[in-house]
Amino acid sequence: MEFQTKLLIGGKLVEGDGAGIEVENPATEETVVTVASASVAQLDQAVAAARAAIPDWASMPAVDRAPLLRNIADRLRAKTEELAGLMTTEIGRPLLESRDEVEWSAACFEYYAEVARSEIGRVIPPIEASQFAVVVKEPHGVVGCIVPWNFPLLLLCWKIAPALAAGNTVVCKPSEVTPLSTLALADVFDDLPDGTVNLVAGAGEIGSAISAHPGIDCVAFTGSVATGHKVGIACAARNARANLEMGGKDPFIVCSDIGDEGVQIAAKGGAWAAYLNAGQVCTSSERFYVMEDVYDDYVAAFVDFTKSLVIGDPLDPKTDIGPMVSAVQRGKAVAQVEAAVAAGAELLTGGGNAGRPKGHYLEPCVLTGVPEDSDLMTEETFGPVAPIVPVKTLEEAITKANSLDFGLGANIYTRDLNTAITCLKQVRAGSVWINDPLTDNDAGPFGGFKNSGIGRELGTEGLDAFREAKHVHMDSVIEAKDWWYPYG
Ligand code: NAD
Repeated sequence: MEFQTKLLIGGKLVEGDGAGIEVENPATEETVVTVASASVAQLDQAVAAARAAIPDWASMPAVDRAPLLRNIADRLRAKTEELAGLMTTEIGRPLLESRDEVEWSAACFEYYAEVARSEIGRVIPPIEASQFAVVVKEPHGVVGCIVPWNFPLLLLCWKIAPALAAGNTVVCKPSEVTPLSTLALADVFDDLPDGTVNLVAGAGEIGSAISAHPGIDCVAFTGSVATGHKVGIACAARNARANLEMGGKDPFIVCSDIGDEGVQIAAKGGAWAAYLNAGQVCTSSERFYVMEDVYDDYVAAFVDFTKSLVIGDPLDPKTDIGPMVSAVQRGKAVAQVEAAVAAGAELLTGGGNAGRPKGHYLEPCVLTGVPEDSDLMTEETFGPVAPIVPVKTLEEAITKANSLDFGLGANIYTRDLNTAITCLKQVRAGSVWINDPLTDNDAGPFGGFKNSGIGRELGTEGLDAFREAKHVHMDSVIEAKDWWYPYG
């Protein structure tokens, strides 16, 4: 099979000059192709091209940018099968989930095409009658976008779409695990002026060079807490803007008021929230706090449903859960499960490789009795693992939910309005989902409290992340002010 492995720099496709990246298919463990990274010199060229594209792009009226952004959405949708196939090849997730990702990416461009047409600031009350004052929102300039492998296109589009809509140009770097799906995007940007979008492959060194690059005004990063911390420090060192989306350890609270049918539904919702993309979602539910009254029924329903799921070839439409992305990620999740079991936890189901001779398959795991201080309860797992813990009261559930330094998302199942309002006010997380886990909305901000992030993507907040606010104060008369010198 032929792959598009060239970088997009200044509107041209060029071969990378840097180190080779071997792309592995996690379902077969075969090397699909080797992609040449960008060299640091090529990154410089990409930044120069993005800088050269700023004047025309930044000055284009939003109404003229909008059809160009909608055109990107159309081109993305037209490539759904190609892009979905590439993501499934690189990550191992079921094709259905990859197709969804292309659709959500396209919708994000449509959203920002329209949202950016409605305002570029606001009019504020002046302090004297002869004056007029406004806030003008201007683009930063060049935005460097650094993304992880788990939703390679969506998380990139959450950056590119608002950055372009705000009048910035971009230099984008996918994860070294997923260069193919990102480089295959090159032609969706064909109708933009050259240099507006640049795509460079590379690993940590190119990410680090982006964070430190004097020609990059803002870095939009998604990835782990450890890497995000480095990016934040590199940006702070040169006072560049940074938007950081990092890891999580999301809680999932189940209240006893939801009744028998609700327990069954919340078990299915919990399994989906824990196992989607083989548990490799930043907002995967990784800690379940279930009221004692319904705990036994909930665990039984969760285990039964987990056993019914189909683990297998991600290209087979019957497959619910494909392999994990790599041996390293699988090993990390298994190590947390094994350490919890060694400390007294019970593994009720899962943990094997689904009988597959090859591939990083991990049967989804349900555990009870996991010690509260184990890594499985306190550190990001990023695998299909659900530890379930009984709680006596809502207060205990909320205290446990808030007990870690993460605060990305949180889920609650309840029919009680008072419980819902208490949770939405008291749970410290950037997204709180009540009775509908993990549902994002282009119009709603996405991001983390505490170590999970600084800044927001999506919504009008996600547009402001790529705009600088300028206060403009005008007086219609030229006169000396009575508060000037002399004071005496
Ligand atoms: P990672 O931090 O290892 O890598 C993320 C990106 O940073 C990659 O492109 C990588 O090449 C690059 N990078 C590596 N070292 C760098 C450096 N020194 N400077 C700059 N860039 C560097 O993360 P990952 O393993 O690719 O992704 C999984 C992590 O991403 C998980 O922790 C997950 O929770 C998080 N994530 C967060 C969100 C969110 O929106 N908050 C969404 C998805 C994933």
